[in-house]
Amino acid sequence: MSDQNSNGLDRRAFVKSAAFGAAALSVGATGVLGTAAKAQAAGPAGYQHTQNFSVVTIGTGNPIPDKNRASACTMIQFNGHYYLLDTGNGSNDVLAENGFAYRNINAIFYTHLHADHMTDFVDLMINRWMTGGKEMQIIGPPRSGAYYNFMIDFFADDLTYRQYRGYARGVSEVGMFKGIDVRELTGSNRFELDGMRIRTEPLTHTMYNLGYRFEANGKSIVVSGDTSYDPTLIELAKDADVLVIDANIVAAAAKKGTEEQAFTDDSIKKPKPKYEFAGNFDVAPHMGIDEVAKTATAANVKTVVLTHLPPAPFNMAAIKPYFEQAGFKGRVIEGRDGLEINP
Ligand SMILES: [Zn+2]
Repeated sequence: MSDQNSNGLDRRAFVKSAAFGAAALSVGATGVLGTAAKAQAAGPAGYQHTQNFSVVTIGTGNPIPDKNRASACTMIQFNGHYYLLDTGNGSNDVLAENGFAYRNINAIFYTHLHADHMTDFVDLMINRWMTGGKEMQIIGPPRSGAYYNFMIDFFADDLTYRQYRGYARGVSEVGMFKGIDVRELTGSNRFELDGMRIRTEPLTHTMYNLGYRFEANGKSIVVSGDTSYDPTLIELAKDADVLVIDANIVAAAAKKGTEEQAFTDDSIKKPKPKYEFAGNFDVAPHMGIDEVAKTATAANVKTVVLTHLPPAPFNMAAIKPYFEQAGFKGRVIEGRDGLEINP
């Protein structure tokens, strides 16, 4: 699979024309899922990786509704297991459309706790659990655990009912009520998970944001989450094979008279965050495309994948000059939902 959008259907139309994934899952929730239906629940054809370490852009849009792009979600595939970075609106559907079996999700990482990076969490967790997912990790900034706890509390009777109905096919507390290891991170961290080396660094955003670097097989994949221009990202992404980067502003950085002006105009009274580690409301939320090009060039990455894109048609011809001007020597790729990139 390289690009589901090349079938000529928009993302939502594709969901409708191949809706058996979602239908099979709703059957699964009632506990009568047969073997054939189980295979369908994994997705249309069942995804097969060609290399055992890759990155798939699952949701490449920004918060504005877009029939072609789900909101933020990026997937690291390692040895056939999936590690989701963020779970934005629509990402649950894109996983099914592309044949990624929910039960193979070993971890969900959050870059930050903005809604457009999170709201498919409940659907994903239930689908994973109902299709055989057991122990897993949830890793993210402070208060990531509160989101999990909210789900367990608010949907308590829904979840208990599903467990009861799923008993005959092996659904237990594990995968929802038990076996979920939640780790909240701040600052610089280095750890291993399932044989991958992982590093996190905080990056500048209006919400506390962690950038992630994954290393395996001598290759490296970096995911920025949302960030304004930040030299720490250059250091985190140094010589990486793939950098999946927030390119929300596909024009040069903030100009006067735009929405971005709110972040530089001192006459506007700024609200204060309610929670600790909420980020910084005073900074620009994203880079301009000139700053994206500058970051990729300074980091010397081989491939840069643009994501968090606005609904307007993507125009690579308008973007390339920024990378040429920066002296970028690598590949520039437009992130699309379901696109796999092998490092
Ligand atoms: Zn954000």
